[in-house]
Amino acid sequence: MTYDAIIVGGSFAGLSAALYLVRARRSVLVLDTGKPRNRFAAASHGFFAQDGSDPLVMLETMREQVKAYPGASFMDAKAVDATRTGNTFHVTLENGDVVSGTKLLLAYGITDILPERPGLPERWGKSVIHCPYCHGYEFSGQRLGVLNLSEASIHQASLIAEWGPTTFFLDGGTIDPDAMTTLRKRGVGIEPGTVAGLVGEGAGLTAVSLENAPERPIDALFIAPANRPNSDLAERLGCAVEAGMLGPIITVDDMKTTTAPGVHAAGDITWSGHTVTFACADGVMAALAIHRSLAFGD
Ligand SMILES: Cc1cc2nc3c(=O)[nH]c(=O)nc-3n(C[C@H](O)[C@H](O)[C@H](O)COP(=O)(O)OP(=O)(O)OC[C@H]3O[C@@H](n4cnc5c(N)ncnc54)[C@H](O)[C@@H]3O)c2cc1C
Repeated sequence: MTYDAIIVGGSFAGLSAALYLVRARRSVLVLDTGKPRNRFAAASHGFFAQDGSDPLVMLETMREQVKAYPGASFMDAKAVDATRTGNTFHVTLENGDVVSGTKLLLAYGITDILPERPGLPERWGKSVIHCPYCHGYEFSGQRLGVLNLSEASIHQASLIAEWGPTTFFLDGGTIDPDAMTTLRKRGVGIEPGTVAGLVGEGAGLTAVSLENAPERPIDALFIAPANRPNSDLAERLGCAVEAGMLGPIITVDDMKTTTAPGVHAAGDITWSGHTVTFACADGVMAALAIHRSLAFGD
């Protein structure tokens, strides 16, 4: 069978697109490996009528709602390659099977490349976080830290100060005098020492340990990690890819159409503003573009 659309990635962007397409009476195959980016957090914040919901429950609910439509098909499968012959895309799965569709939506998300520090990975999404709008409120007024990873960390620290008293951990590095002035104006403290690890019970945080210096007590550490896409399908299909703020992003137009004919992309892989709200809106926009090109031609 040739599906009207194949969606690679069945999370916030992919499922939002799937819902619109099946409601437009189209046949859709969603391929998914079940690893949404925010799976490390117990609660998702800031999404309309779902503030504080478990992101995995949100996704399961959405999956069930999409499945209720006759046009919906799902495979728990990884897409590893895609080619186009004429007007049809052929997507190869990890087990060697090939599925076919007229349109292709890439919504496979990104992976955060966490800095290597003892005690950091197990606290990711809990007391080590990246987005103040997602998880800052839960640490309101508490002792906050920002780890110096790149230029983005300076902006992050000056923003985080809105949520509580903030320390910028230089981690043995340096920043230019203007950045230092900006941070001081925002009331951000500077800790020059090299970070040795994170300290606290379970996933909680009580302090940052430093090399050759006493521990600095904090309750949450913000980081702005670099990221990489979860797949190279965009490159394999010839889609243009550009440099984003913290990792590569697929070039798309306002309708989430890539530079490769018939290929659309949505969610975190298409821009640097990463939230569930934006990913869902992206999916809807891509679905509208796909539906219009199925109905009226390219
Ligand atoms: C720790 C953390 C907490 C966050 N908290 C919030 C929050 O509170 N509020 C908020 O608005 N945002 C939050 N975010 C951001 C949010 O997670 C992302 O913006 C959102 O998940 C992006 O949705 P997406 O559909 O683009 O990608 P993802 O949700 O990452 O989904 C991509 C999907 O594609 C699948 N996949 C990958 N490769 C393949 C392949 N080759 N074949 C098939 N399937 C594949 C993956 O398994 C996954 O299911 C948080 C992010 C992190 C890291």
